[in-house]
Amino acid sequence: MKPCGHSETDSVKDSAYRRILSPVGSLQGVGKVTARELQNRGVQTVCDLLYVLPRSYQDRTKFVPIHELSSGQTALIKGTILKLRRVRSRYREILEMLIGDEYGIISARWMGAPRYLFRFTKGKKIILFGRFRISVKIPETYHPEIIEDGDEHEIGGLMPVYPEIGGISQRRIRRIVMDAVKRFTQGLQDPLPARIRQTRQLPELGKAIGEVHFPVESRPEDLRIRRAPAQRRLIFDEFFMLQLTLALKRTKASREKGIAFGIQGVEELYRCLPFQLTVSQTRVIHEITSDMNRPFPMNRLLQGDVGSGKTVVALIAAWVAVRNGYQVAFMAPTQLLAEQHYLSTLELTRKMNLKAALLTSGLGTHADDVRDGVRQGDIDMLIGTHALIQESVTFHGLGLVIIDEQHRFGVVQRAILRHKGISPDVLSMTATPIPRSLGLTLYGDLDISVIDELPPGRKPIQTRLFHERDRDKVYAVLREEIKKGRQAYMVYPLIEESEKMELKDATQMAEELRAVLPDLHIALIHGRMPLDQREGIMEAFKAGHIDILVSTTVIEVGIDIPNATIMVIENAERFGLSQIHQLRGRIGRGIYPSKCLLLASYRKTTEASRRLRVIEKTTDGFKIAEQDLAIRGPGEFLGLRQSGFHQFRVANLMSDAEILSEAREEAFRLAERDPELAHRTYSLLRQIYRSSQREADQLVDTA
Ligand code: ADP
Ligand code: MG
Repeated sequence: MKPCGHSETDSVKDSAYRRILSPVGSLQGVGKVTARELQNRGVQTVCDLLYVLPRSYQDRTKFVPIHELSSGQTALIKGTILKLRRVRSRYREILEMLIGDEYGIISARWMGAPRYLFRFTKGKKIILFGRFRISVKIPETYHPEIIEDGDEHEIGGLMPVYPEIGGISQRRIRRIVMDAVKRFTQGLQDPLPARIRQTRQLPELGKAIGEVHFPVESRPEDLRIRRAPAQRRLIFDEFFMLQLTLALKRTKASREKGIAFGIQGVEELYRCLPFQLTVSQTRVIHEITSDMNRPFPMNRLLQGDVGSGKTVVALIAAWVAVRNGYQVAFMAPTQLLAEQHYLSTLELTRKMNLKAALLTSGLGTHADDVRDGVRQGDIDMLIGTHALIQESVTFHGLGLVIIDEQHRFGVVQRAILRHKGISPDVLSMTATPIPRSLGLTLYGDLDISVIDELPPGRKPIQTRLFHERDRDKVYAVLREEIKKGRQAYMVYPLIEESEKMELKDATQMAEELRAVLPDLHIALIHGRMPLDQREGIMEAFKAGHIDILVSTTVIEVGIDIPNATIMVIENAERFGLSQIHQLRGRIGRGIYPSKCLLLASYRKTTEASRRLRVIEKTTDGFKIAEQDLAIRGPGEFLGLRQSGFHQFRVANLMSDAEILSEAREEAFRLAERDPELAHRTYSLLRQIYRSSQREADQLVDTA
């Protein structure tokens, strides 16, 4: 809906829409220098400028009589200059004016006695806007704004206050925006269907833009919380356009032909399992298999906290596919995780009569045999890393694609794997709980299944925050637990080589630990080690030959060792909350109580300690994710590697969640009613949608 999102607007025919993309330089009062300053802030076109929304508004609706001023009030006053004097202080000159109206007197002061004030003389009328403080005698104000003849548009309403843009003064920005509003928003055709505008009580686009900058009808209290109709309209737009894209994608996919898998016999399979499924697991299995049973390609996301038991659910889906004569591709983000999936499921896959094989990039010549087996259909399920998407891998009949930790893969990688079959079903999995609002924008075109309980018998993990200076206490806990026969992980944030932060690296730490705890077996593992060496260490740890495993975040996913009950996370302040939560999910897997010790350097009052306290208090992944999202914002929450994340300009995922729901409802309703947006009332909407699609496609092509 926001036309300026798209550089590609050839398909938008409406002329007002195209006109709004004129360069900012075409506005009154924007010369070369200002234009450059604007461009540095990402404001290229008139439209970009119109979407730089005010941070707040100043009430300049009416003059406040001097005797009604209260201390701390920001107000507009007018009066006559009664006295003018220049006072020399020790450092600089101060200019003071005494100004009076019929009822009282105020004092206005300027430090440094700016020259432009010298033309004001006693007896002249003057209008001021400033913040007043009431001292013993009379109200005082420092550096108030002076409204002169010709500045009338600066008063008589709510005045927008914009975010800083270079050195451009508020007054100039206002004047430039005013010109843009006057010349470019009138006659702007509105792409949002009138019916939606009516049901949701949203003003027309051109009017909304004008009103947001120079409010006439909005109530100040609504503006403050961004709920004036004009603001709601712009927020709505941003959500609506994205939701419409998702909705149309989904309607399109649901008309594609897919495989209708037969799903009888699933329940008998439960008897092969070494444990009883949780209620959540049974529910999501039912959701997934019914979806597989439908003759359309499944596109479903399985969400579940670490340790909630997603793997067995995936295996049952795999079994369904194989029983129907199809193959399964199971892709995981790291070698370690792929290996673990392969090894940990071996027993079950055998029982299920399912022939599984592993393909990672470190397999050498054996890989050729695996690939042959897959091509000929001898192998039912291929587990692996992104080695699976290599061109040399071809399937005999790929019917189901399972993607673990799906957010670690790009759109393109996922698409390549899917295209190795003919409209296969896709089951994506994630252990990163995602707050609903973010989920709706990220995965709004997917169906979502959630496992929201852990298998019974898990001992809750106790988490405690330690300050760096209490390192000794942490070592004491370590020693004590190990004496009881338990094992420990010690985790370091993965350090980019270029980063010159003063983080002790894992190697050095392992040395230090050996010195402090000389009687314990300490080993180091990290991602740059050769695979066989890493495997050797993991085996030794599993077998209990190692007491403390010092590692980088390679153990973030996929390790399942019940006897390891302690995790120390170093430099905890450098991790996101969700990441810590995931890490600590690696302990607490056995019958012993587990402890997670966070070591951090922070000052008591800081953000970091506040963040870490959250993780100390709760073990609910969804709650943690919400806090994390609120603290860090969506970009950082997801990590920079998340591809295709939509950056909102106006909307805010956390505070505007209810507008998001409304926009989503309308978008899905529209997509269902007219999936081609063929009706003439949608013609502008269709054009804008198409141009945005073309731009998105180009992004994928160059990815
Ligand atoms: P995640 O969801 O993190 O991938 P996993 O699938 O690795 O979790 O399961 C974690 C552990 O819990 C595994 O050892 C698995 O065998 C076990 N598990 C899964 N479901 C159950 C269950 N219903 N009862 C007991 N243990 C279970
Ligand atoms: Mg898993």
